[in-house]
Amino acid sequence: MDQAIWRGVLGEIEIDVSRATFVTWFKNTELVDSTDNSLVVSVPNVFVKRQLESKFNSKIQSIIQNHTGQSIPVEFIVKSSKRRVVSRDIQPSNTEPKDSTTPSTVPSLDSKTNLNPRYTFDNFIVGGSNDLAYSACQAVAENPGTKYNPLFLYGGVGLGKTHLIQAVGNAIKLKNPNLKVIYISSETFVKEFLESIRFKKKGFSDKYRNIDVLIVDDMQFIANKEKTQEEFFHTFNALHQSNKQIIISSDKPPKSIPTLTERLRSRFEWGMSIDIQMPDFETRCAILESKADQSNIELDIETVEFLANSVKTNIRELEGVLNQVLAFSEMRGVRPDISIAEGFILNAKKTRPQHVTSKQIIDRTARFFQLTPVEICSSKRSKHIVLPRQVAMYLLRSELHLSFPKISQELGRKDHTTAIHSVEKIETALKFDVSLRDQVAEIKELLYV
Ligand code: ADP
Ligand code: MG
Repeated sequence: MDQAIWRGVLGEIEIDVSRATFVTWFKNTELVDSTDNSLVVSVPNVFVKRQLESKFNSKIQSIIQNHTGQSIPVEFIVKSSKRRVVSRDIQPSNTEPKDSTTPSTVPSLDSKTNLNPRYTFDNFIVGGSNDLAYSACQAVAENPGTKYNPLFLYGGVGLGKTHLIQAVGNAIKLKNPNLKVIYISSETFVKEFLESIRFKKKGFSDKYRNIDVLIVDDMQFIANKEKTQEEFFHTFNALHQSNKQIIISSDKPPKSIPTLTERLRSRFEWGMSIDIQMPDFETRCAILESKADQSNIELDIETVEFLANSVKTNIRELEGVLNQVLAFSEMRGVRPDISIAEGFILNAKKTRPQHVTSKQIIDRTARFFQLTPVEICSSKRSKHIVLPRQVAMYLLRSELHLSFPKISQELGRKDHTTAIHSVEKIETALKFDVSLRDQVAEIKELLYV
């Protein structure tokens, strides 16, 4: 079998794409069969299959062409699942011993570090919305104190900040068990600091200044607390001067946290500030697949897509609905399906905004850029209209998953290649252009409030 060809493809792609992209889409692929005129590659799930077919196929083809001088089509098949399929007629499974991987099992916190061992890089799904954050966190985990210091991660609620910063801590501990790592929320920092003053407790300063890695979650809660900010400022300096790693998360970038003292703000901006965006459709599907997989339950594509389309802006919420669906199905001894999912979504919908339409996306994007919907759909090619139009196309794709011909049609275009180029252009730009990322995030927020 032509293992060498697929290894060659993987080798070249690994050099070409980011580490996170490689790990997410290529790491668990394997050549399982080949004939003279085709290769069969197994992939872990249907989302990887789709991504490889739609986004990477031409790259894979050109590498094969370079290596072999001929074009050999690749067929991607989903690896046969090892998962348990809950059948419709089995009895309720409450007599079964609990599987240690079920979501109801709460792993214990490490009392020295406060880290939760459940948060790892391995079970974090990487997509366009979080791959920069993921890569930065991995870089810090590999070389704490040298690369990005401090590392400042910001983004909305439930998007994976706590997961990622704790994954850094867990990875560092795994590699260097002797390093002293502490994870703490800024609220606990405030509380401990106030107690140390009130009860004249000694040792507070030492506790946080004599460690190797300090991870502070939800820094926004330190706003307004001037004395604690001052204490944190000294802690920060002591650690930074001795090249100890500091990792901070917050719901906003340093410049937007109100009443953060100027000197602390400027410290936070010394290192690397990076944001996590709302996940796109593929990432949401992959997260659902992976969580169901961890519970050993198979979900059909229809149900996964339905859930991914119903909860778009918060992964914690997505996970919550999935857990409800899985728990309900397990209790009833039935296979989770779209009708069960619909029941839970309908309940949740009462408090959640309605489904977004193409028209709303176009209107809100136009309004955001101070244009009219007519202008954005016109054939004008001036710069101040082209970018908003491309953003609208990108959002129609990422939020509604429309086909390219449909996207073109919505914006009054005949040729669908414009839509393909526009979506690709924005996807690439979002990786590098922080201000564009903020703009797109703001439009999404406007869409879902
Ligand atoms: P935040 O701290 O940003 O509010 P969390 O880190 O608490 O968000 O994430 C919320 C939940 O969603 C957690 O259970 C986390 O494990 C899960 N989660 C978030 N992002 C991902 C991801 N990319 N892959 C897998 N799980 C994720
Ligand atoms: Mg958090």
